[in-house]
Amino acid sequence: MNRVSFRRTISTTTRGRGQQMDRVLSHLTLNTRQFHELTLRSRVILSQLPLSLTVLLILVGGLLFHPDLFASRSFMIGLWMQAALFALCLLVPWDRLPYVSFLVIPLLDFIPIGFMRYGAGTVITGVGLLAVFPIIWLAASGLYPRALLAAGFLASLAIVWVPVFVTDIEVTSQSLTQSFLLPFIMLAIGVTIRVMTSSMMAQQAEVEEKDRALRLLLEESARRERLLDTVVNSVDIGVTAVDEAGRTVLANRKLEQFRALAGGTRDTDEAALRIFQQDGETALPVTRRPTRRAAEGHVFSDYLLWWGERPGQRVLSTSSRLMTNQAGEREGSVVTFNDVTELVTALNAKDEFVATVSHELRTPLTAIRGYLELLLGTPDLDPEVASGLEVVSRNSERLHKLVVDLLSTAEGAPEIEPVPTDFSDLVGLRVASARQGNTNPLVRFEDLTDPGLVALCDASRIGQVLDNLLSNAIKYSPAGGSVTIRAREVGAEVECSVSDQGSGMSAEEQKGVFSKFFRTAGARNAAIPGVGLGLAISQAIVQRHGGSITCRSVMGEGSTFAFRLPIARADQVQELQTQGL
Ligand code: ADP
Repeated sequence: MNRVSFRRTISTTTRGRGQQMDRVLSHLTLNTRQFHELTLRSRVILSQLPLSLTVLLILVGGLLFHPDLFASRSFMIGLWMQAALFALCLLVPWDRLPYVSFLVIPLLDFIPIGFMRYGAGTVITGVGLLAVFPIIWLAASGLYPRALLAAGFLASLAIVWVPVFVTDIEVTSQSLTQSFLLPFIMLAIGVTIRVMTSSMMAQQAEVEEKDRALRLLLEESARRERLLDTVVNSVDIGVTAVDEAGRTVLANRKLEQFRALAGGTRDTDEAALRIFQQDGETALPVTRRPTRRAAEGHVFSDYLLWWGERPGQRVLSTSSRLMTNQAGEREGSVVTFNDVTELVTALNAKDEFVATVSHELRTPLTAIRGYLELLLGTPDLDPEVASGLEVVSRNSERLHKLVVDLLSTAEGAPEIEPVPTDFSDLVGLRVASARQGNTNPLVRFEDLTDPGLVALCDASRIGQVLDNLLSNAIKYSPAGGSVTIRAREVGAEVECSVSDQGSGMSAEEQKGVFSKFFRTAGARNAAIPGVGLGLAISQAIVQRHGGSITCRSVMGEGSTFAFRLPIARADQVQELQTQGL
């Protein structure tokens, strides 16, 4: 053990001893301070006090009942020495001396005890037992255990034997063994105290170690809390955490600003906040408010809400994520509030612009298409003029389709009229039409549609979806390959998929494929015509039917677009069959 760690051990064990004695001794200091917190001088005085008080008791008892005792010189020497030792405890600046120097007091204590025992003779028996006080002190000090135990034993033995050797008492085996028990009793007491003290010290050290670890943990947790607080309050989005009962466990400053906007304060119940639906006027039902939904365990993203009254109304995008404990059980949710007013305003402006421009384009385009039809119907038309007019007609058709697409995206949710429809038939027709219009001789069609499928859908709208998927499959397969169309019944739905062996898309591109005006870099670079609206419209149509559309694609290998629609009920199918007959 090196010097530094030895010293540390001494100071730890000494501190440990002080703490163990606290409960016993703190009442001596009127419980104002712990024993180990006292100065060394006070501790030396307190440790000597029990012996001094017992000696005082003997003195008073002697004065009252055995005044002849004071005639004994040995007894008087013992008394004075004891008084002197107590004075030493009081006067010596122990705190300035080396720590172990206080041991001199319990070691010297044996001398006056020896004198007093000899002096008391048979008048007061058992004075030798006073040796128990220095023995306890030495053993409980935790210092030099073996040496001090041996010293205590030898000193106790000296108390018994020295009088035999230095006085005229005859040295016989009888005189030597007469009080032989005393040193052994003292040794046994010393060993017991030592064992107890060391086990308590070990426990104390363990407790202190745990205490230290706990303090470190607390400091770390406080540091993390400060960090969290700083981060949460420096971000420009509202953040709150709620427990399962919907009680707020955390809310940042930005959220308070948002709550103020909706006419509330930090403590206002969410139900009382002025939060509206998309029209900005209809109050959002309490059950659909974000914190309530989050407390119920819903996970959502980009849930738009209109906060506060006009004109200062803001649009907030809210999201929620679950918080789980170590066992993975839900213990609340975190909800974020992001002000997206500017973005929503810009998107609305864009939609309005698109709608206005497409409206303006549609009127002259209708006139152009009408006159073209008239002109193309003119008899004896010069073939050169006719072929020119065909080109104009084809391009005006493309322009017309674009304008229709633009209008339909600007209008928002498409109008549909779902009726029981022979889906297999519909697919067959659209595939035949795609085959006819296909200008890429490298593309082959394979129709694997199950016969007799009946879906509840708007045939013209779903036809639009099929046309779009088929034309994309052709467009994005410049090197050819087969385009496979499958349709089958899956549970209570009809599933239709269009697969190609074309250019495919990266995983990142697939995420945005249903967004308005989205085009892959490959499509743009290869100058494949398109504006990125077809799939957005298709998705809107399918979703309006209560269905879903997905995309699976591998770059360079091909893509599969699949959509599902609700199947028609048996009675509806029956009705359709009757009509067919
Ligand atoms: P458009 O085809 O008019 O550009 P869409 O909305 O139909 O618009 O498609 C959006 C984008 O998705 C396309 O520009 C293209 O980059 C990509 N895409 C669509 N279908 C396919 C396909 N079958 N294979 C590869 N890429 C496709």
